[in-house]
Amino acid sequence: MSAWDEPGTPGSREAELAANLARVEERITRACDAAGRARTDVTLIVVTKTYPAEDVRRLAVLGVRDVAENRDQEAAAKAAACADLALNWHFVGQLQTNKTRSVAKYAQCVHSVDRVRLARALSAAVVSLERAPLDCLVQVALEKAPGQGGDRGGVAPDAVGELAAALDEAPGLRLAGLMTVAPLTGAYAGAPAAAFERLQEISRRLRSVHPAANMVSAGMSADLEEAIAAGATHVRVGSAVLGVRPALG
Ligand SMILES: *Cc1c(COP(=O)(O)O)cnc(C)c1O
Repeated sequence: MSAWDEPGTPGSREAELAANLARVEERITRACDAAGRARTDVTLIVVTKTYPAEDVRRLAVLGVRDVAENRDQEAAAKAAACADLALNWHFVGQLQTNKTRSVAKYAQCVHSVDRVRLARALSAAVVSLERAPLDCLVQVALEKAPGQGGDRGGVAPDAVGELAAALDEAPGLRLAGLMTVAPLTGAYAGAPAAAFERLQEISRRLRSVHPAANMVSAGMSADLEEAIAAGATHVRVGSAVLGVRPALG
């Protein structure tokens, strides 16, 4: 028996995922060590978008407990195909209000709340489904200028308080914290460490009003080290685990 017989034979998808996952796990551990943080402070969420339910199943066998998707149609089908697995489903994409009921059926956490109207729709869905409270994060768009709130893809930093208050008051929702994607434009373009530091500042201010909203979702395949150094509690990693996705057409 070679070491590769478990959990997959050489060249198999299982072996590939196991090796990728081990590399990501090592990066997270090293980043935690460097920051003087406990490994248990950081949760790895594997972003499985564009990859099939079979891969989600393989990841579950390898010990992954948190997976994320960015499109409801794809996520709903995968969550249904994996309903027998003990997984937490995270929704991280732009969300239309007419999809909130579907998302509320399988998601434990929505990272991408970017407007009060969406918070209200999620709240109504959770209440009508009589399900457990849904964790919600305010998506912060660090590239947006003050006053550029209420938009898709995140609110400007100055609009976080208002949206957080709406989530905090919404029946069935739990204001859990903040999410961001390192900006590709504006002052933070190419400077993920500075972007994640800024998010941490916004998180401190949020927690001074809502102490339980301590989740900080930041960092992806390219910048998880910078996010962990700045204090991220959740990293969302796709391509480093599953492989490079085909470019969207
Ligand atoms: C796709 C995606 C990720 C993962 O990105 P990778 O670069 O593949 O790690 C993280 N967060 C969000 C919101 C995404 O859409």
